[in-house]
Amino acid sequence: MRCMIVSVVMRPAPGDLRGGSIVSFSISSVCCEWSSLMEPIDNPLSPHDRWMAAALNQSRIAFDEGEVPVGAVVVQDERIIAEAYNQRETLVDPTAHAEMIAITQAAQTLGSWRLTNCTLYVTLEPCPMCAGAIVQARIPAVIYGATDPKAGACHTLYGITDDSRLNHQSIVIGGVLREDCRDILREFFAVQRALGKK
Ligand code: ZN
Repeated sequence: MRCMIVSVVMRPAPGDLRGGSIVSFSISSVCCEWSSLMEPIDNPLSPHDRWMAAALNQSRIAFDEGEVPVGAVVVQDERIIAEAYNQRETLVDPTAHAEMIAITQAAQTLGSWRLTNCTLYVTLEPCPMCAGAIVQARIPAVIYGATDPKAGACHTLYGITDDSRLNHQSIVIGGVLREDCRDILREFFAVQRALGKK
């Protein structure tokens, strides 16, 4: 059975501060395995909120360590198998984004580079590097919080995770706990500006 490739972007309608409108939605092939992902994502009881909250907890650790606060978790069979936060400064490593670390952890946990049946939750839309890693890891579903106008590579600037020219596509849903994911970033950069660091 072919995989379902779905691209969902949540953007608020003009003047709608609540957000949560699904404005783009496409299904290019069919698979039932991930149909549960199509539950309404603006439902406060959405299971996605629970896992995104765990990713947000990771972003708070990053915040406290002076790192750009982005967190990620990998979920398989209703449990977290990897959790990580951005450690670019600490590790002096431009590839140490939360998703990259979480993907590596998950592969080690599973003993396989193929992260099939896994869902990646990340507080910020993945960049081109992380979107590439998502494709390489064959992750079937990605849920993110805030969009990234400067580097977003799932919807905003590029569509790497649903590019049919590549050999893998993912279901991608954006906008889950968007305000919380965005606000911690804004707070971090406000603090950094106040400190004259960034
Ligand atoms: Zn990244």
